[in-house]
Amino acid sequence: MLYLVENKKVVMVGIPGVGKTSLLKRVVEILKERNKTVSVFSFGTLMFDVAKDNNIQDRDELRKLPVIDQQKLQKIAAEKLSSVTDEVVIIDTHAFINSSEGYYPGLPEHVLKIIKPTNFVSVSAKPEEIYSRRIKDFTRNRDKITLSNIKKELDFQSGFISAYAVISGSPIKYVLNREGKIDEAADKIINAIGL
Ligand code: ATP
Ligand code: MG
Repeated sequence: MLYLVENKKVVMVGIPGVGKTSLLKRVVEILKERNKTVSVFSFGTLMFDVAKDNNIQDRDELRKLPVIDQQKLQKIAAEKLSSVTDEVVIIDTHAFINSSEGYYPGLPEHVLKIIKPTNFVSVSAKPEEIYSRRIKDFTRNRDKITLSNIKKELDFQSGFISAYAVISGSPIKYVLNREGKIDEAADKIINAIGL
């Protein structure tokens, strides 16, 4: 048996309002207590930083750009990530983007080949909880919020994430982010990744 000490590149996906950013905050706190070097990147923010130089002013405008422009931004963001050497690198992103042209992959094959994720975490929650989390967040310029759209998005998430696992050969941990139970979900993620 060959044992390799590898750095972890964890890609965390979940539809908007499922609680990725809140969960990650807790995961990082725990990892720092364990003296791991860890960094977290929002893939959308990396893309937005590049897009700002091209006159995009609001991150919620990103998904409305022509897909071809979003693909270029994805590639640049992935290249930035590939040079990070922390023991644990966590990428906060979406399995798919709701663009004007339809759902398109947050992690197309060319991006996966650059990032080389070691683990995927697919975050989910009850549709009703996602609904109320979205409604309460006034900081974002969200698409129309309905329960049936949220259910449809959860279904699409499973489809996209399966493809990513097959392309990368890396496992998916499915985590339910239950209301008021962030610590429980954070522990499950850390155990699954073996940290
Ligand atoms: P986006 O994709 O839009 O960035 P997100 O998945 O990062 O969304 P968060 O911003 O982390 O979602 O969470 C959305 C809202 O839900 C926040 O107000 C957060 O405090 C709340 N929230 C997240 N997880 C839980 C939980 N387990 N219990 C209660 N509230 C939660
Ligand atoms: Mg977030």
